Amino acid sequence: HTASDLAPLNASKLQVTRTTKPKSKLPKEKLVFGQSFTDHMLTVEFDQGSGWGTPEIKPYGPLSLDPSACVFHYAFELFEGMKAYKDSQGKIRLFRPDMNMARFNKSAARICLPTVDGEELIKLISELLKLDQSFVPEGEGYSLYIRPTLIGTSSGLGVGAPDKALLYVICSPVGPYYPTGYKAISLEATDYATRAWPGGVGDKKLGANYAPCIKPQLSAAKNGHQQNLWLFGEEKYITEVGTMNVFFVFKNADTGKKELVTAPLDGTILEGVTRDSILKLARARLDPNEWEVNERYYTAHEVAEKAENSLLVEAFGSGTAAVVAPIKNIAFNGKDYDVPLVPGEQYGEMAKTVADWIAEIQYGKVDSEWSRVI
Ligand code: PMP
Repeated sequence: HTASDLAPLNASKLQVTRTTKPKSKLPKEKLVFGQSFTDHMLTVEFDQGSGWGTPEIKPYGPLSLDPSACVFHYAFELFEGMKAYKDSQGKIRLFRPDMNMARFNKSAARICLPTVDGEELIKLISELLKLDQSFVPEGEGYSLYIRPTLIGTSSGLGVGAPDKALLYVICSPVGPYYPTGYKAISLEATDYATRAWPGGVGDKKLGANYAPCIKPQLSAAKNGHQQNLWLFGEEKYITEVGTMNVFFVFKNADTGKKELVTAPLDGTILEGVTRDSILKLARARLDPNEWEVNERYYTAHEVAEKAENSLLVEAFGSGTAAVVAPIKNIAFNGKDYDVPLVPGEQYGEMAKTVADWIAEIQYGKVDSEWSRVI
């Protein structure tokens, strides 16, 4: 078969089986990230002989797979994380879903799983959201977390390109990441493990990237820190924090300008949708006479030196779950470096500013092509 013989993902073929046992909904204050799911899920099978099968929306429930399925042995798995938001008129909005589709396809291509027409998958996800819209919680900070997942399902223990795959999408209602206001985090720089490396797959959202990250997280937690800071190489380049991208604000002693800086996308950094949004908004909205916005390499040594010379202004993680995670402290090389916050607050000025910019787009308070009503 040539690729053109294969059926593409086609949202117009969708078949829907509604649940006969609707779940009771948790009060929204009781929502815990990723612990409860909506009534339905989307599934689509892929077969190398025929292409994408019939998309189905059906009651949320267990999958049945052969124990030899390649996902269980060789980690043929990738996922996305995106959110739907209810606006003040009750309309449901997706934030830059095309970015998640593009990343989904890049991840799939890297591990020999089939790619999809992203717009068709957005249509299917939109149908799932319409059916389960009563699960999308209302209010500032509330959202429905959407988890598109693609696994290789070929049975047999040979290591090779999967000839069968399953795409599925599940959704979990979530509350605000900071229910009682921002809470700045303390980081431990990890000195014995590397998250990703040149030529590796750190820029793909593969499940295989995540399991090895828990140990450094636990060790940071044991030492009283909320997240670990991922460094790379002898130089100790700063790459990411926990499962977020990371931004620093420095003051340039020579020019007096402030610099918003994050690591460049060189294949070792997850290409965060939030990261990209922050960079684009900052470049469009910050006064270039006062600010530089840079994607460049920078090291933990540079941060330490800036901290010692009062040139470290603030730092924050960025990701879909929290939007921003202000940082208050970094443990590196046996020393603790304080990161400034707005006096009396748990955030830095830029973290709060970009978080507000993004939230007003997500909840449809300002017009933006980044927010798509389903
Ligand atoms: N880095 C890693 C390792 C992540 O898992 C995530 C979450 N997807 C991010 C960064 C942030 O990406 P996004 O802004 O798209 O959520």
